[in-house]
Amino acid sequence: MRIEERLYTLRYKRDEKPHLSIIEPNKCQKCAEINGVPEPCIVVCPANVYSWVDNNRIVVSYENCVECGACRIACPFDNISWKYPRYGLGVAFRYG
Ligand code: SF4
Ligand code: SF4
Repeated sequence: MRIEERLYTLRYKRDEKPHLSIIEPNKCQKCAEINGVPEPCIVVCPANVYSWVDNNRIVVSYENCVECGACRIACPFDNISWKYPRYGLGVAFRYG
């Protein structure tokens, strides 16, 4: 099964309070200069949570996050604030 098909089977309960965010947006511009594009967070995220808008800021579509934690590890500037959504909210995986 392709990743897109798997993502389609997930269910989300949106937490109004974002559980992840970029700490210092200015560092993302620097990151693009050093690491090239797409940036590490964009490369590793399986759910397309991060994307550039107008080439000057990254938007974080946190409600699509599958809580894998990869972006937090991949960010070379430790620039992502990440925690689990509040209890009962966020992604729900189905097994079987
Ligand atoms: Fe910004 Fe980190 Fe993503 Fe680089 S990897 S663009 S510093 S959030
Ligand atoms: Fe994407 Fe995983 Fe980071 Fe969520 S935790 S934003 S799914 S890389």
